[in-house]
Amino acid sequence: MHKRLAYLLAVLVLAIAGTVTVSVVAAPTAAADDCYTWNRTLSPGASGADVTQLQIRVAGWVSYGENLALDGSYGPATTNAVKRFQSGYGLAADGIAGPATFSKIYALQDSDCTPAHFAYSEFDDNCGANNFNGGKVTAATAKENIRRIMWQLEAMRHKLGDRGIVITSSFRSVSCNSAVGGSSTSLHMYGQAADLGLSSGPSQCQMWNAGKSAGFEELLSQGYPDHNDHTHVGNKSSRFWSAPNC
Ligand SMILES: [Zn+2]
Repeated sequence: MHKRLAYLLAVLVLAIAGTVTVSVVAAPTAAADDCYTWNRTLSPGASGADVTQLQIRVAGWVSYGENLALDGSYGPATTNAVKRFQSGYGLAADGIAGPATFSKIYALQDSDCTPAHFAYSEFDDNCGANNFNGGKVTAATAKENIRRIMWQLEAMRHKLGDRGIVITSSFRSVSCNSAVGGSSTSLHMYGQAADLGLSSGPSQCQMWNAGKSAGFEELLSQGYPDHNDHTHVGNKSSRFWSAPNC
């Protein structure tokens, strides 16, 4: 309910009730947000586009080795991710996404629906092109894939003590990828990977380890060829983790 409408209704109730003491009832939904507002409480069994939007925000709160499906269906995996998100931010961990959970998400997200500590501009260098063009998917898809990674990194960052994480490379066009010597099947061309630099707060191996419980199925770091100066995180359909020196 709109806050002002709720207030007017409360005034009306008070007027009708006369001298009866009425306790003020909180509005049922959190304040509207710039980028996306949930209009209902989401519980296990719910489905819809608003569930998908929730899943993107909690994709970094999965269990070890898990990758959350963005399927719009509020099943056990989503419930558990919501519980971990709630617990991670000091909320009651009931696995139901209501006003308290949405308020926390609103506080964490920017007006373009990216999380507070990451911006598209950090992920679009693309060999200096500063856009998401020329990859293996459309720019819109690449951005959507990157947004999911950002939320996973936001979770990782929080779990690692709110220390900064520096992105050294993320989206690459096909030509940019080959210019920097990326693999011909690199997830960077899909907006499904990011490289985390040495100047990040957490160590290279701390980030590699934390990625295992943040939904990343591709994790490469110290000791893997060409990965001694960054930790690579990516989303794919099968697991490939390697960091012989971590
Ligand atoms: Zn990489």
